[in-house]
Amino acid sequence: MPNGSAHIIAGTICGAASSLVIQSRAQESKQIDLGHLLISTGTGAAVSRLPDILEPAIHPNHRAFFHSFVFGALLGFGSVETWKKIKMKAAERRASGIEEISLAEIFLGLILIVIVVVFLHLMMDGFTKKGLPVI
Ligand SMILES: [Zn+2]
Repeated sequence: MPNGSAHIIAGTICGAASSLVIQSRAQESKQIDLGHLLISTGTGAAVSRLPDILEPAIHPNHRAFFHSFVFGALLGFGSVETWKKIKMKAAERRASGIEEISLAEIFLGLILIVIVVVFLHLMMDGFTKKGLPVI
């Protein structure tokens, strides 16, 4: 079973990687925004253990809804919808002739990172012997 440290390390790396992907896809400039990278990395670390905080490992069958395939599917749907909104906001901004990324895009990007990092937590737990419940 991945321990808390493994989740935090994976979440931190995933947060940083997600920031780089979002920045490369949503912005036309090739410069990396270090503030976005740092906030995203911190967000990834902060939410990496969220399912275990909601469902603490106090007994062998602690994995319930927030560790389930259904919750994972909801996260997948949420990530696609959030990504669509980010792309739409970026297109609207560009159509208005504004180059600087908006606060709404940054906020949506952080939501996407939270979703991706929590999904990663489920993936890591899903590959353990105990696996994940359906619901
Ligand atoms: Zn877990």
